[in-house]
Amino acid sequence: PLGDEEVLLASSVGRVMARDLIAEADLPPFDNSAMDGYALWSSDTAGAANDHPVQLRLVGEVAAGSVWDRRLSHGDTVKIMTGAPMPPGADSVVMLEEARLRGDVVEILGSVPIGSHVRPAGEDIRRGTVALEAGTRIRLERLGLLAGLGYARVPVTRRPTVAVLATGSELVDVAEPLAAGKIRNSNGLVLDALLRRVGIEPDDLGTVVDQRDLLGQRLEAAAGHDLLLISGGVSVGEHDLVKRVLCEAGLDTIFWRVNMKPGKPLLFGRWRGQAVFGLPGNPISCVVGFLAFIEPFLWKVMGVASEDRLLQARLTQPLRKQEPKTQWFTARLSEEQGALVVTPTPQQGSGMLTSLAQANAFIVVPEERMRCAAGDVVDVVPLGGDLWP
Ligand code: AMP
Ligand code: MG
Repeated sequence: PLGDEEVLLASSVGRVMARDLIAEADLPPFDNSAMDGYALWSSDTAGAANDHPVQLRLVGEVAAGSVWDRRLSHGDTVKIMTGAPMPPGADSVVMLEEARLRGDVVEILGSVPIGSHVRPAGEDIRRGTVALEAGTRIRLERLGLLAGLGYARVPVTRRPTVAVLATGSELVDVAEPLAAGKIRNSNGLVLDALLRRVGIEPDDLGTVVDQRDLLGQRLEAAAGHDLLLISGGVSVGEHDLVKRVLCEAGLDTIFWRVNMKPGKPLLFGRWRGQAVFGLPGNPISCVVGFLAFIEPFLWKVMGVASEDRLLQARLTQPLRKQEPKTQWFTARLSEEQGALVVTPTPQQGSGMLTSLAQANAFIVVPEERMRCAAGDVVDVVPLGGDLWP
């Protein structure tokens, strides 16, 4: 955890509550009318009916924003607007449509049950109740509650500063023309978008070629963030220099390589006070590595209370694995007759940009499960939806 800070409510959406937020007052703050109507004593209307209405004396009017502070006498009524405070003594409201006004007499055409159309103080939330717990994300659905309670500034957890560096001598920027042997750096943009999705604005450090000294220089320049994300160069090839260069520069490797497909050569360590993830360069491996490790890591760092985002869905076709690894399959998740169903995309390959483009989810099959039949229930990580707590 990186500690707390206070932000303006208006810019708090997407942030995470740093501590429990207690309602310091009742909401609504006072008993008020839920309708335009007449405030009255319920007991005055006993026995009223269409053919023998009860007659009440109209003594005034109260609109939203003002206060009627004289106690209401029996036999009297006050015209009241939606949101106006109840006059003292009045315990019920009859809707305008259900009463008849004759001069300064209001005829009530039926008995009004006590509490009718009254919103009691504290019915929304009571003073002293926890309105939002620490670790909750401030979704826009929660903004109104915080505003209603008067939190102009809210205590949130600090977001990590993150730098993204794509390595590979083959890489050119998306806007650049391709030369022989070159491909475009898609990982940089995708990582950037994945980070923004969890509320982080990363520093894009662009690309660097697979050359020891240049890579070393760029990594030095990248220091000073909370988290450094590096794509490419963490595998065992001759030009996979990221791990070597980092180790020579004092990386404390926490783990390297995971029993996962795609995404096996993932690297995690500490270096100069920052956390470092090295992600394999294949585009799908890179995304899977992010979803499987980096996103949960970021949640932890930002103090999010729960990180469970797996859904269960029924497979529409069988799935096979070649190796006993946790395997992530690009897939389409949909709903059929109220149940979630999931279909792997036709192509599965760690370098297939189209398979990810067609997908809206990943199927995650655990290490030991080598085959799944059509109709089996499998774990799914949805991609589009924001399923944060
Ligand atoms: P590497 O992990 O460096 O061995 O790269 C594995 C594969 O991913 C290679 O085919 C690379 O060309 C490709 N690749 C590496 N970095 C990127 C990137 N930033 N964008 C798209 N593809 C990449
Ligand atoms: Mg490479």
